[in-house]
Amino acid sequence: MRNAELFEIARRYMPGGVSSPVRAFKAVGGSPIVIERAKGSRIWDVEGNEYIDFLCSWGPLILGHAHPSVVEAVCEQATKGLSYGLTNLHEITLSQKVAQLVPSIEKVRFVSSGTEATMSAIRLARAYTKRKYIVKFDGCYHGHYDSLLVSGGSGVATFGIPGTEGVPEKMAELTIVLPYNSTQAVKEAFEKYGQDIACVIVEPVAGNMGVVIPDYEFLKALSEETRKYGALLIYDEVITGFRLSLGGAQEVFGIKPDITCLGKILGGGMPLGAYGGRQDIMSMIAPEGPVYQAGTLSGNPLSMVAGIKTLEELEKSNPYHSLENLTRKLTEGIGEILREKGIPHRINAVASMFTVFFTDGDVTDFQTAKKSDTQMFGRFFRALLDQGILIPPSQFEAWFLSTAHAQEDIDIALEKINKAVSSL
Ligand SMILES: *Cc1c(COP(=O)(O)O)cnc(C)c1O
Repeated sequence: MRNAELFEIARRYMPGGVSSPVRAFKAVGGSPIVIERAKGSRIWDVEGNEYIDFLCSWGPLILGHAHPSVVEAVCEQATKGLSYGLTNLHEITLSQKVAQLVPSIEKVRFVSSGTEATMSAIRLARAYTKRKYIVKFDGCYHGHYDSLLVSGGSGVATFGIPGTEGVPEKMAELTIVLPYNSTQAVKEAFEKYGQDIACVIVEPVAGNMGVVIPDYEFLKALSEETRKYGALLIYDEVITGFRLSLGGAQEVFGIKPDITCLGKILGGGMPLGAYGGRQDIMSMIAPEGPVYQAGTLSGNPLSMVAGIKTLEELEKSNPYHSLENLTRKLTEGIGEILREKGIPHRINAVASMFTVFFTDGDVTDFQTAKKSDTQMFGRFFRALLDQGILIPPSQFEAWFLSTAHAQEDIDIALEKINKAVSSL
């Protein structure tokens, strides 16, 4: 059956035909593709169309699709049981590995998604500090927990308003929303409300308003202000963990947050999230402490072995330098193509993640990200898809490279992007 026919059936039985909203391609128009299989840097839809994949399942697949040693580990584990509901050997191995690799983590709790990780980290921070307010930044996404699905008002430091129907105002009001990269706003918010702020949660490199690079001064101010006022600093490294380096953004910037949230790469394509931090903070979690948090499938052995294998491969090959080089070739190539055609753009890139914005101003926060021409992005996306290049179906997301992407993929991709852009 064809993509469009299948999607009609999907829409009958699933809201919008999808299990997660952005997959419906609403931001870019056109009918979504339905995936049949994927391998390495390539993905195929049900019509047999092949795409070079720069979506990489939104970040987890730093080794590309169906990496042989990850698949082998998962298959082998499957024959020994899918879930035990009791502590297994692989949890112990992965917890040790995470504590070794991520500078700020001494103890870690496994959950099944990034959303669960941030939600639980916030509960923990509120319990630890005995305070209720949390600070988040406009344009950062931390999953769909009520307190975090909140957007800013029009002022600089505003109490949140519900970012969706179904979030009570009373809940949203406990979240203070500030502009990303604004050291000034952070200082003002702490001056005013510091005694009641439990934590600041931040993407240390933003990926969910498109890639936005933090000012080092901004990150430093977050550490200083939280310490000064006795609040906790939560790094949401669900994207950046094991993506920027083995120790994540905190290793790259040399800053230790109090709590770190992980997901995506940690599970190597299986459902997995985690939050971790200092011993004294993590000891608040049940059964050691009074903060309840649990999960039937938490620490399940399939996710554990996929995560262990993924991290082992990364440790073995340490691909970060070559991934960054390959990414630079791609972003420079795209920049050249767009420049030649006279299309205004900005490309924000870090390590193996980047975003192409269609604007002629620098993109440093959500306000400036929103200046991008999203109509143009929609046309760009569809022209690329027609050429066999898959990128995230929204302006405000990151493209990812994997170790399965070779120089040849980049050469082919640039040729196809050139053709696509010429057709715009
Ligand atoms: C993807 C993401 C999440 C949510 O993770 P899910 O597994 O989708 O619940 C949280 N924070 C960041 C920074 C993310 O990119």
